[in-house]
Amino acid sequence: MALPRCRCPHCGARALWWPAALGASPARPARCRECGGLSCATLWSQLVLGYGALVFTLAGLILPFVMASAWALAVAPLGWAGLALAGRHWPLQKTTVEAAIQAQRRAGRYVFIAGGLLALMLLLAWLG
Ligand SMILES: [Zn+2]
Repeated sequence: MALPRCRCPHCGARALWWPAALGASPARPARCRECGGLSCATLWSQLVLGYGALVFTLAGLILPFVMASAWALAVAPLGWAGLALAGRHWPLQKTTVEAAIQAQRRAGRYVFIAGGLLALMLLLAWLG
């Protein structure tokens, strides 16, 4: 069985390995091996992957106790495998080097703001 690959939105070739494609954010896009075009997972496919993995993980932790069956332990790995295989068909969107640099700057700003808020909360907790 060939490794599942995602279709490049630029040239249409199945040239993107799906974990790289699904992990590709606007700030860290995946590069096509055929045409060199940059692409990233759409927001929806990232949300479905994230929440889907969370739901299967929780189900895998809770169902074995509720059902009192060891077979329920298979829910999480089977769910993750299903998501991974379905991810092969999830849409990717085109992006550019300029857009990736902008997204990196935006992400850096959010990290800076979040770090500042965390430092402020720690300071207030320490004073209070
Ligand atoms: Zn391509």
